[in-house]
Amino acid sequence: MRYAYVIGSPIGHSISPEIHNAAFAACGIDARYEAVDVSPAGLGDWVAGARRADLMGFSVTIPHKEQIVPHLDEVEGDARAIGAVSAVTVSASGGNRGGNAFALIGKSTDAPGFRRSLREEAGMSLRGQRVLLLGAGGAARAIALVAIQDGAEQLWVANRHEKRAQQLLDDLAPLGLQVTCEALAIEGPRVSELLAQTTVVVNATSVGLRSEQLPLDPGPIQAGTLVVDAVYNPAETAFLRAAREQGARVLGGLGMLVYQAAVAFEDWNGVPAPIDAMREAADRALGLRE
Ligand code: NDP
Repeated sequence: MRYAYVIGSPIGHSISPEIHNAAFAACGIDARYEAVDVSPAGLGDWVAGARRADLMGFSVTIPHKEQIVPHLDEVEGDARAIGAVSAVTVSASGGNRGGNAFALIGKSTDAPGFRRSLREEAGMSLRGQRVLLLGAGGAARAIALVAIQDGAEQLWVANRHEKRAQQLLDDLAPLGLQVTCEALAIEGPRVSELLAQTTVVVNATSVGLRSEQLPLDPGPIQAGTLVVDAVYNPAETAFLRAAREQGARVLGGLGMLVYQAAVAFEDWNGVPAPIDAMREAADRALGLRE
């Protein structure tokens, strides 16, 4: 039996065990994925104990996505650009890494997860789109990276604390890619004006998570705009519901969650992820299926 984990704190709400265990079962892989509550003070010791032959890897969530970086042997490009790691692969290194038989390699699964969800579920990419991104935390950083890498025409990043939106764009600027970017505060008339001009709006704040709160007034959203919410619980947030009632196309965050899990699963097992089984398990975990 091999193992995989998700580490975070708190971690009780995570539905990643259901998603990954369904994938192992569907592929006949003898492995078990478990959630582990790891405190910030205990992170270093936990990661040091993760260099094991029976551990394929582990997912990383709040509050460890940034703090884990110095504990790893290697961090792949996207994760370095974003400054956050969401999955770690345990790889046999033959003792080449500072005498360690197993190397820990971190990557971002949020960026490819978002990209795949958009492609598979909305049939599009961000190429040529005018994107209004709400939020400047970890999820927003991954989505901004996708907008820049995939050639959005324009990227506006609006956040409660405007400085953090500017910091996000400053951090991604070294990528040197050709997208017109602007940071702004989420409150105020300018964002309402932009809502009427954008082709894609993405909520990557945590507003709406297990609540009916809205990240902003959806009133100016135009019919035909694609509105995406990274929040996946509830599966259709109040923001998405309001946008849908105005004629917008909507996409919830559950697909992004499933596809980011698929990226980690494929890294760890070297076989295509059984997306349907993973999605079904995610729906079931949120009570969307019997
Ligand atoms: P962070 O804590 O890194 O960022 C939180 C963001 O939400 C910040 O922009 C913050 O603004 C904003 N925010 C929080 N509270 C408020 C508020 N009351 N009013 C306005 N803005 C607020 O979280 P993450 O980026 O990791 O996660 C954001 C959301 O995305 C979560 O709901 C998470 O579950 C979801 N997520 C979904 C994924 C998926 O696969 N579907 C993957 C990763 C995350 P400020 O900077 O001003 O504090």
